[in-house]
This record gives sequence, structure tokens and C-alpha cells, in this order.
Amino acid sequence: MLGSTGSIGTQTLEVARWREWRVTALVAGRDVDRLAAQADAFRPEVVACDPSVADVLAPRLPGGTRLDGAPGAAERAARLPADTVIAAIPGMAGLAPVRAALGEGRHVALATKEAMVVAGPLMRAEAARHGGRITPVDSEHAGVDQALRGQNREAVAAIVLTASGGPFREGPADLRQVTPAQALKHPTWRMGPKVTIDSATLFNKGLEVLEAHHLFEVPLDRIEVVVHPQSWVHALVRFRDGNLLAQVGPHDMRLPIQWAVEGDARPAVPLDPFPLRGRWEFEPPDVDRFPALGLAYEAGRRGGTAPAILNAADEVAVPAFLDGRLPFDAIPQVLAATLDGVAPEALGWEALREADADARRVAGDVVGRRATGA
Ligand code: NDP
Repeated sequence: MLGSTGSIGTQTLEVARWREWRVTALVAGRDVDRLAAQADAFRPEVVACDPSVADVLAPRLPGGTRLDGAPGAAERAARLPADTVIAAIPGMAGLAPVRAALGEGRHVALATKEAMVVAGPLMRAEAARHGGRITPVDSEHAGVDQALRGQNREAVAAIVLTASGGPFREGPADLRQVTPAQALKHPTWRMGPKVTIDSATLFNKGLEVLEAHHLFEVPLDRIEVVVHPQSWVHALVRFRDGNLLAQVGPHDMRLPIQWAVEGDARPAVPLDPFPLRGRWEFEPPDVDRFPALGLAYEAGRRGGTAPAILNAADEVAVPAFLDGRLPFDAIPQVLAATLDGVAPEALGWEALREADADARRVAGDVVGRRATGA
């Protein structure tokens, strides 16, 4: 379990308890208390953490569990023998362990959407070369995956991803004054801070469009986004005969997590049946107030390292907003300036590293100029 102390990680471990999965390794960053409690409950072979907290964590691990607190621990853990590697370390930091797991021919249940967004073709090639397999944890993609099962792929006309619209769907019209506390209040899902802010800017949906593009090998112009404030419908597939298949379910990531690992076996879950009632609305996204969505399509069209450039800009802009250094409406401005300020290259692992570093530098400069009013 990569990212075990986070939102996806803790929910995955709840599913692990339901299903009595044996947990080989727990990988996280600096949350020592939670890692120690998880190690105690699941008795993994290995716990991997950030080097800065290894000394504090070591005495708190149960006997029989080995600590790896050296640089590269996440990749080493991802290479351990396992039926499934569940990947939920956010951002670029999550890429190397996903690549390592695929390099061992593992099945990867993928929450780390950035892995497909910035390196989709490389990850697919890695999986194909070593016999690895990727299934999506992201609820929309797990929805598409389910709607596509057993279908004639030639007959797929489009993929439709739903978006809640975020906390600012109905206002304010002027997004300059919104605070981190307001932006962190997602209307339907409880998630980590980065993905929650990305949901408020609609950039998260942009990342998901790019993720779907690579996961399902569907052209960008056949991936639609529709705002569905209730978030009960997670995704739909349009077929060329005019029929649509929708995947529906509660706001509970444990369901797509279990789906990503167990697939068609569909074991029963200890939850009440989903109640079918209420009003279900659908409306087009407001691309003028939320330009980050369009920027993701643009980066996808430019191709190569352009999505990595955009993603890196967002990884700089979101913490700056959360720290009070950048207004909310400047997040897409940083994305646009960085996308135009760094020339994309053909996709490759080295080119990705360079694009990421260049984009962080450019985005950092843009944020710095905003902060000083220059
Ligand atoms: P969180 O911020 O809640 O958790 C992140 C986890 O990753 C924590 O365990 C953290 O450790 C660990 N981590 C962070 N950096 C490193 C690193 N360099 N090395 C090792 N571990 C690290 O994120 P989420 O669970 O919300 O999201 C995870 C991924 O899943 C993201 O890519 C997100 O977009 C995606 N996703 C999330 C959804 C959700 O519902 N939350 C839905 C769909 C996709 P620690 O806290 O100990 O420092």
C-alpha cells in the first residue's frame, strides 16, 4: 500500500480488513503515529517512511516488521512480491514506485492519477514489456472500466466523466477572494488537500480527462465532462448506437478501491444498499470561470511532456494557494503561463524529469511575481 496514511490509503486498509487481505508493505511519508498504528494492526513485512522520521518510527514498529527509511524506500517496497500494488502517493513523487511495480509485472491498482496523466504511454509500455496491468481506483475511471466490461470497444463513441462542480459551482462569481478553508470544503467527497483544491478549480477533472485518454486509449475529443452536483453517477460510456451506460454508486472510495483490486469477483461489502431517490442534475461545466479544465485538454493536444509541465505548475500553485501566497483565481493563470513558458519535448523518462524541473522553476517565478506584485 503506497500512501497508506492518506485518504485513499486509510480507506484501502478498511477494505483490506473487510477482505482479510494480507498487507506486505505499508509506504508513507511522515505521519509516524498513523504508520505505527497501521503496522501494529496489519503486521506487514516492511514499513517504508520518509528518512526524516525513520529514527522516531523504528522503536514503534512491531517485531517482525522491517523498517526501510532510506531514500528510494517506496520503489523498493513496490518491487516486493504481491498480487496487487495499490498506488496512492500523490503527484510526481508517486511515479517512480508505480513504474517499479509495473517493471516487476505487478497488477497496479492506481489512485495516483498523475502517473497516467504525465507518463501514460511510458507506463503502458512498461506494463506491456513486463506483463504488468493497471486498473483505475479513481471513481470516474473505475466507473468507465465497469461500463466498458464486455462491450465492443469499436462501438464506443465517447467517454463521459462527471464532475461535482466543486464548492464554487454556484458562486461567488468573483473567485479572487475565496479562502483555502472554503476551497477545502468539497461538496460530496472527503479527500486529501491537493485533490480537493484541484476539484475546486476543476483541474482535477482535467487531470482525469488526460488519465482516461491514456487508460482507455480514447482520443481527447471523445472525452466529455458533465457537471453532476450529486456525484451519484461517476461516469458514462456513449455507444455509437445512441445508448449510454452509466455507473452509479455512493460517495465511498472503498467501492472503487475494492473494484480495482477484486474486479469481476465483486465480493459483498458490509454497507447498506445505495438508496435511489432525489434529484439528479446534469449541466455543462463553466469553462470560463474554471479555465484549468480547458488547459488540461490543451496540454493533452500539445502532447509529449506538456501534461507534465501543466501538472508541475499545479503542484507549485496549489501549495502556494494553501499557504496564502496566491489567490485562488491565479491558480489557472500560473498553469497557463507555465504551459506557454516551457516548450514540450517528446515523451521519455529523462525528458519528463527535465520538463517537471523546468516547469516548477517557471511556475515558482510566476508565483513569486504574483506574491510581490511584480
Ligand atoms: P493524501 O494527501 O490524503 O495522502 C497522501 C499519502 O501519500 C500519505 O500517506 C502520505 O504520507 C504519502 N506520501 C506523500 N508523499 C510521499 C512520498 N514522497 N513518499 C512516500 N509517501 C508519500 O492523498 P489522497 O489519498 O487524497 O490521494 C492520493 C492519490 O490518489 C492522489 O494522486 C489523488 O489525486 C488520487 N485520488 C484520490 C482520491 C481521494 O478520494 N482521496 C480519489 C481519486 C484519486 P504522510 O501523510 O505520512 O506524509
